[in-house]
Amino acid sequence: MRNLSKSKLIAYRQCPKRLWLEVHQPELREDSDTTQASFAVGNTVGDIAQQLYDQDGTGVLLDAQRDGFDATFKRSMELLATDKPIFEAGYSANGALAFADVMIPDTVDGKRVWRMVEVKSSTGVKDYHRDDVAVQSYIARNAGVPLASVALAHINSSWVYPGEGDYRGLLEENDLTADAFARFDEVREWIAAAHEVVAMKVEPEMKVGNQCATPFACGFFDYCQSKEPQAKYPIHWLPSIRSSDLKEYIAAHPALDLRDTPDDLLSEQQQRVKAHTLFGEVYFDAEGAADALMSYNLPAYFLDFETIQFAVPIWKGTRPYQMIPFQFSLHTLLDNGKLESDSFLDLSGKDPSRDFSEKLIAACGISGPVYVYNAGFEGARIRELAERFPEFAASLLAINERLVDLLPITRANYYHPSQHGSWSIKAVLPAVAPDLSYEALDGVKNGGMAMEAFEEAIHAETTPQRKAEIEQQLLVYCGLDTFAMVRLWQFLAGRNDLHFE
Ligand code: SF4
Repeated sequence: MRNLSKSKLIAYRQCPKRLWLEVHQPELREDSDTTQASFAVGNTVGDIAQQLYDQDGTGVLLDAQRDGFDATFKRSMELLATDKPIFEAGYSANGALAFADVMIPDTVDGKRVWRMVEVKSSTGVKDYHRDDVAVQSYIARNAGVPLASVALAHINSSWVYPGEGDYRGLLEENDLTADAFARFDEVREWIAAAHEVVAMKVEPEMKVGNQCATPFACGFFDYCQSKEPQAKYPIHWLPSIRSSDLKEYIAAHPALDLRDTPDDLLSEQQQRVKAHTLFGEVYFDAEGAADALMSYNLPAYFLDFETIQFAVPIWKGTRPYQMIPFQFSLHTLLDNGKLESDSFLDLSGKDPSRDFSEKLIAACGISGPVYVYNAGFEGARIRELAERFPEFAASLLAINERLVDLLPITRANYYHPSQHGSWSIKAVLPAVAPDLSYEALDGVKNGGMAMEAFEEAIHAETTPQRKAEIEQQLLVYCGLDTFAMVRLWQFLAGRNDLHFE
């Protein structure tokens, strides 16, 4: 019997078909960019955990990829006789194997025991973490490890980085010993059931559903979905699916088509999306849109931010996962109809926040509406900057007072069938300004790519030529975001008298 790794057992817990596919057809798996990014974040947090749990540098890091599983299991057992922290120790027992992030030696009643710590890049303890540590400790205990306790260490999102490489306080430990040890019978059953799934000749029957995204986005989703009946007008094109009645209906009717969805389960907005999608007709309340914008005069500002976030902060005074703006684009429409543009972009690798604040204050002037698309995002970033830099707080918060959100105005007054239920600027733009396109951009085409580009640009090994290329791509991308808002505003306000280059 082959040993199943902890990750295979967790895959089984998510969906038996996922486990079967991971073992028999792993080539079908396509991890999203988000999933791959989360692996990279996990590695970064793991590196910091080794520093934190090995302050005097005596710990031993094992590497099963390099040394092989059997050699690592053997070495892990040998190290139990020492008093050194062990990282990535491997154990196998009862048809399963696992590697422990951190093993800390301890002494109870004169005997050597071990404390196990699993390190996660999340900001709290999730249900699947409890499965994870139960499996981990079951295997270690059955392999003969004198395991006294098991804890889960996750990121403390309210911790503020004091700088100088001092990451004490970044991780918060939760003792899960009682919960994990009480579940050993369950774990034994999971292992047995998982082996039965692996032994199946064909994949288990399983329809796509909520389990495909929870607790992880499943990399086999495209494969599984391609084998199911395809809806011409998929139900997920409906916006804001929140009512429990509608959710239950969808869960009971996979591959549901909008045509089959009862109207009495839908909100007014959902009914509008359904009707205009099925009939292929544009909805536009031109009067309502113009009314919503009537009270705002020129000059008007159109603002958009790009942000970066780090699980392990690199800039003093910032928190884990804090969204830190490194770029803005601002288009200004003057009262004579002339359009001007301004921008800020810091690729130096230093904390951009102070310069960003100063430049933003100077660029936004002191009066006139500041249009944004989804004001919650820019508004929250401005408030955070105001908290960090009290000397700029009044000016920054004054900008917040002037924010006007184009998203709810668009959502209430416009819908094109091509939007497929989305009012993201990237969904709306092709309908109202087909001459503008994100797809035609070179390199950076969305916020996720902007983050990746920023990280690449500030990396020490990035060449000046590549950095210049990224800078240009970011400026063009963010500039399109705000020019798109100008064109959207023009459309909604009915200002066909204005002409922009
Ligand atoms: S996509 Fe969904 S149904 Fe298919 S293997 Fe993954 S979790 Fe299971």
